[in-house]
Amino acid sequence: MVVPKSHPRYESLMKRERIIEGFKKGLVAYAGLIAHGRGETFDYLIGERTCEFARIAECEAVKRIKAAKNPVFSVNGNVAALAVDEVIALARILNMKIEVNLFYRTEERVRKIAEEFRARGVEVLGEAPDAKIPGLDHARALCTREGIYSADVVLVPLEDGDRTQALRNMGKFVITIDLNPMSRTAKTADITIVDELTRALANMVKYAENPDSCNTTNYDNNEILAMALKHIKERLERLAQSPSSSGLNTNPQL
Ligand code: ATP
Ligand code: MG
Repeated sequence: MVVPKSHPRYESLMKRERIIEGFKKGLVAYAGLIAHGRGETFDYLIGERTCEFARIAECEAVKRIKAAKNPVFSVNGNVAALAVDEVIALARILNMKIEVNLFYRTEERVRKIAEEFRARGVEVLGEAPDAKIPGLDHARALCTREGIYSADVVLVPLEDGDRTQALRNMGKFVITIDLNPMSRTAKTADITIVDELTRALANMVKYAENPDSCNTTNYDNNEILAMALKHIKERLERLAQSPSSSGLNTNPQL
């Protein structure tokens, strides 16, 4: 599908196309299509831009990853379809290992996702799991000793709530990127970046390159989630004052 750049929903439509392409290539699971739709909904509510609560969380995440001993970037099908180049850029600048880790694991999908990275000259973990995350059923628990199992900090965008909790139970510091501030993952992680994946990763690369642009003190994830919910509430209240004239996405300031 050709989407004209002038289309008011250009960015969103392009991401949708990338998910569909990823699905056709065998990277994205059926459930990944639904998860993407849920993400789109929350991005619509947020206003399809990076807000202050996301900026603070992105800065703190970069700081924590920089200070980690074995930081690992956990990648699933949607992340590979949407942001393989952004993942590589951030992992490189922050010295992170990349591990393919799937909720709906099939060996074929793991291999296809790993291939996306290899085609760009980047080796990833995950094809030969040799450890398990305690408390999860077999396929969902598989991981590598060198990667997620021994990681102190894990970045797990678009993750499921149970798995986030299982990683926390292992004592790991968990950072997620999730547009839904009410998801179990958002509530369970140590840092929740309520922002769209590709925007968040691009911002994190900027912050990693230029740490002076960040100053975070006393990070409190509950406060971040509260800010996100309040932003949605106040934005909807403003929009409700003139629902037809505002045009939900044509005025990004709303
Ligand atoms: P939970 O298990 O944490 O309660 P869930 O079951 O509602 O979450 P999942 O399908 O497990 O959702 O995880 C996908 C999450 O990722 C959703 O919260 C969705 O809003 C979010 N999401 C989807 N696409 C994106 C994206 N491009 N950027 C950021 N977040 C996204
Ligand atoms: Mg879930």
